[in-house]
Amino acid sequence: MSVTDRCNLRCSYCLPEGSQVWLPKAEIATLEELASLVRVMTLVGTTKVRITGGEPLLRRDLPTLVQALAEIPAIQDLAMTTNAIPLPDLAGDLRSAGLGRLTISIDTLQAARYKTNTRRDSHGKLLAGIRSAEEAGFTPLKLNTVVVRGTNEDELAALLRFARERGHQARFIEYMDVGGALNWDPALVVPRSEILHRLESECGPIKALAPGDNSPANLFTLSDGTVFGIIASVTAPFCGACDRARLTADGKLFTCLYAADGLDLLGPLRAGAAEEDLATMVDGRWRSRDDHGGQDRLEVSERGPSAQVPDLLAKPHLGMHTKGG
Ligand code: SAM
Repeated sequence: MSVTDRCNLRCSYCLPEGSQVWLPKAEIATLEELASLVRVMTLVGTTKVRITGGEPLLRRDLPTLVQALAEIPAIQDLAMTTNAIPLPDLAGDLRSAGLGRLTISIDTLQAARYKTNTRRDSHGKLLAGIRSAEEAGFTPLKLNTVVVRGTNEDELAALLRFARERGHQARFIEYMDVGGALNWDPALVVPRSEILHRLESECGPIKALAPGDNSPANLFTLSDGTVFGIIASVTAPFCGACDRARLTADGKLFTCLYAADGLDLLGPLRAGAAEEDLATMVDGRWRSRDDHGGQDRLEVSERGPSAQVPDLLAKPHLGMHTKGG
């Protein structure tokens, strides 16, 4: 669930400067409405919720929402993905409110690179955010790295060591051609095979672990027991096993990260629809879903970005920052 489409960074692979129209404020669901939509999702079987964005920590009074979600009996796993910059002010409150797990994005250990990629000089704040998450008890963290050739593929072993030294789990994500990835090019994707090869040459032998639940990450281990994940969304899309539904901050339901149109739930909710009626709508959409964006993209010859600036301006929901990564 994306709780806001706003972000404090401008990562070139997600939300490059000038590529976005923000969702109108009046169309953003209130915290009560978001909690109601999550209850609707639980009526059709949802047990896990990941809060994301945009940058979810920019949403005012987020701990209040976390507490409301933590109180929904059907929710067994409540997690959040964040860039961690505002975290020092919020980590303790989020923990007390009932947030279970945190995933933090860290694409580089180098402040200058971070600034180039995100257009913000905030690497020190990211590290402070990681420390605050540790102090608040969110350990182990998952540390997400989007691997983009020419920007950070030389840091994979260093990022893995950084995670290991702190007892966290590194997860390397192939660079996807989704939403605002306007400079995407197949040559910039560092495939899972190369990620493994690079890590093996610096960290020693790697073994694949047996697949677990429906997590998109393939898990691997070093000989010292360090476990890490790779999300090969580009070279090995997992559409067939995908069980994720996405709710946007304006209350639309999407059944694929690549989809342009979602099912509006906020309109009917504001018009007075009961949660049970909304659940029937969600059930219908879920059962009839036939999108497999990652696999469809494999068929595209001369593959480039999946959207251009005019598409993103006309259809804000195409953006990863709107749909929630
Ligand atoms: N602002 C938060 C953050 O930075 O983690 C949450 C939202 S962000 C859209 C969620 C995740 O999507 C991050 O791990 C980010 O790196 C990933 N992401 C965004 N664009 C991507 C792309 N083109 N390819 C792969 N992952 C991407």
